[in-house]
Amino acid sequence: MDEATFRHWSAKAAEWGVEYRQSLRDHPVRAQTTAGEIAGQIAQSPPEVGEAMERIFEDFETIIMPGMTHWQHPRFFAYFPANAAPVSVVAEYLVTAVAAQCMLWQTSPAATELETKMLDWLRQAIGLPAAFSGVIQDSASSATLSAVLVMRERALAWNGNRTGLAANPRIRIYSSDQVHTSIDRAIWVSGIGEENLVRIPTAGELRGMDCTALAAAIEADRNAGYIPAGIIACTGGTSTGACDEIAEVVRVAREHGLYVHVDAAWAGSAMICEEFRELWEGVEGADSVVFNPHKWLGAQFDCSAHFVRSPDDLVRTLAIQPEYLKTHGQDGIINYSEWSVPLGRRFRALKLWFLLRFHGLSGLRQMIRNHVRWSEALAERLRNEPGFEIVTEPVLSLFSFRHAGGSDADAHNLALVKAINDDGRIYLTQTRVDGRIAIRFQAGQFSMAEEDAETAFRTIVELAKKVV
Ligand SMILES: *Cc1c(COP(=O)(O)O)cnc(C)c1O
Repeated sequence: MDEATFRHWSAKAAEWGVEYRQSLRDHPVRAQTTAGEIAGQIAQSPPEVGEAMERIFEDFETIIMPGMTHWQHPRFFAYFPANAAPVSVVAEYLVTAVAAQCMLWQTSPAATELETKMLDWLRQAIGLPAAFSGVIQDSASSATLSAVLVMRERALAWNGNRTGLAANPRIRIYSSDQVHTSIDRAIWVSGIGEENLVRIPTAGELRGMDCTALAAAIEADRNAGYIPAGIIACTGGTSTGACDEIAEVVRVAREHGLYVHVDAAWAGSAMICEEFRELWEGVEGADSVVFNPHKWLGAQFDCSAHFVRSPDDLVRTLAIQPEYLKTHGQDGIINYSEWSVPLGRRFRALKLWFLLRFHGLSGLRQMIRNHVRWSEALAERLRNEPGFEIVTEPVLSLFSFRHAGGSDADAHNLALVKAINDDGRIYLTQTRVDGRIAIRFQAGQFSMAEEDAETAFRTIVELAKKVV
């Protein structure tokens, strides 16, 4: 591609992006295509001869875009958000143009040094003590896998990577029954095995794990000859926002010498507001914490902030050349690839720098407080609407509800979710609460306005009357 063509299409792409964002409210939130519809329009084999950019771009608009679900849509209330604030998009354009591999300090000193600074900014923003150091991982799943690997190595006197697990007693990890599936996968991939993830039952409105049962399970395992290694606690579980009592979990962990990792992938962003920090009270006692600025804060995916109390333990677990340990932290050099499973790393700190400077913490706090307020107000309105029941109360901006109807309540609510998403004005997803279907609502879109909550209310009530 020559310079003039690159210039033309770069400008066109940027212009397209602005118009796309402006027109989002005119589109159905969830893609309205059927399986195979897009694939059927793509050539069977790669072209032998290059094609004109005009054709390629046109196909992007006519074939691809109709098959996209609009994650930046202001009425995206499904799953959790994956916000990409415009200022973060601009930073990503620059990162894409520079396209550096930032695995070592020397492969891009600015990327490493800015990452150290930005993670310290985030640490201060969410109120973690200075004893924590941070690294950007590609996802919370990777951060949790790294934490589980540290638990494993620590429990095996730093010999697991060398000897494997076969000769050792079983390692045990503890979590509640509300944690994300990324915890299961970390347990599989680390070789610990699903049978050794001990699920502690939950209780109370916030569905936190029963810490008496936790302590009893650890003791029973130790007596049975297993090696209890760590606890994965959650703040803001995916299904209904479950929160463990972190202070209690940490107390049990200290008593038994276990490592504590806190998964706050979604809820962590809200901790920039002091009033929400009671949800993870005691977090300063954890060994590691992960949260995703790429969910609620507005930094484009991928951007997971992983804080650790002991970078040395992480490096000792993941660095392929252990002698690096000797210089780690000295001469001011950090090689962040030693803090994560993949070697290659994109320059992910730039979008945080742009985002935090452009909006300031007060701007981001305002956004999060609005989401929480609008979500609580919607829950109240649905509670007062005949036929509706609030199943789980709002945790930050997430709650779940159910509508009474039909002979089979689960089938009725699944049909309602489908009707809502086929309608396209809003997008919701379902979950199971105590075995029964409930419909989730979370507010978290960067561009959401109060009127979008109003549209959500009208859409839900209107379609609930139509679905039998
Ligand atoms: C989204 C989420 C994850 C997974 O995050 P990724 O960054 O996609 O790996 C893990 N835990 C919780 C609680 C989540 O909400």
